[in-house]
Amino acid sequence: MMSKERFLDANIPDEMAATIRPRSLLDFIGHESLKQNLSVFVSGARNRGEAMDHVLLYGPPGLGKTTLAHIVANELGTNFRATAAPMLTKQGDLAAILTSLEPMDVLFIDEIHRLPTAIEEVLYSAMEDFKLDIMLGEGPSAKSVRIDLPPFTLVGATTRTGLLSNPLRDRFGIDLRLTFYSPGDLAKIIMRSANILGTPIDGDGALMLAKSARGTPRIANRLLKRARDFAGALSKNQITADIIKTTLFQLHIDECGLDEIDREYMNTIIKHYAGGPVGIENLSAALSEPADTIEDVIEPYLMQLGFIQRTPRGRIITDAGYKHLGLEK
Ligand code: ADP
Repeated sequence: MMSKERFLDANIPDEMAATIRPRSLLDFIGHESLKQNLSVFVSGARNRGEAMDHVLLYGPPGLGKTTLAHIVANELGTNFRATAAPMLTKQGDLAAILTSLEPMDVLFIDEIHRLPTAIEEVLYSAMEDFKLDIMLGEGPSAKSVRIDLPPFTLVGATTRTGLLSNPLRDRFGIDLRLTFYSPGDLAKIIMRSANILGTPIDGDGALMLAKSARGTPRIANRLLKRARDFAGALSKNQITADIIKTTLFQLHIDECGLDEIDREYMNTIIKHYAGGPVGIENLSAALSEPADTIEDVIEPYLMQLGFIQRTPRGRIITDAGYKHLGLEK
């Protein structure tokens, strides 16, 4: 079980992750039309002195959903409050947060598809009318009360919109989809981070690293951190393409950015299921990885590369996938 780890900022001490996280739309690299739209929505809300409409951000882990939520609050000039659905187990947990908001605040709920139904239902009137409907007490003496909430902006993040219930999805006025970054944009992100971290990287090195970062800024930053270690070990104060080559080789990452877990995933389908189709539950058991980790973390990039396909009967390895592994179909 190591695949989640590659998406965590765990190797980067917190202050470092905080310093390289972009704080404004100007610093947020790539996704140009999304940024343009968002800046129109932000200035509209600011000019009217209203809370901005609720925003749903979706896309694979590490593409900038949390970062964008922070940026929305910064650009609106409001407070940023964050929680994650797994931390909200009772209606009271959500009620406590909602009643402590100040007008126009941004409330970020990560993994919003994991909200229990009873808590999701509290959100409906909170999002629509800025009212909190809760039950006080239990049994025959229970009373339903309605509390006014300050106007606020909910920013919800999810890896797949299909996981959200329709009533919840319908209450978001703004839907933003984050997709994998191009190597060019990732190279810019890498150069920016390298400068902030004080170990510059040359253009060739940045591009090589970008191509192996699975289209994902979080992975790009994590690999950059490892490359800094190798540069340090070699007493170099600049990161070059040679250092990137060494880093990728040592971490067993190939030129497409696939690592041992990706190859194990593909080899399992080929060796045990004749290249597929195989259902997610079987794969989950064979790889000892939770199904949602496989679906959110491993598969999206392999699909983007065209190495696998999801069919109604299960996953299959494509010709390109076989070719990448140097195997005949
Ligand atoms: P998510 O919430 O989608 O999992 P995050 O917002 O935590 O992803 O982003 C992961 C890291 O990648 C952040 O720490 C941030 O530094 C970096 N990052 C993400 N998107 C961008 C971007 N567009 N430009 C620069 N850095 C980015």
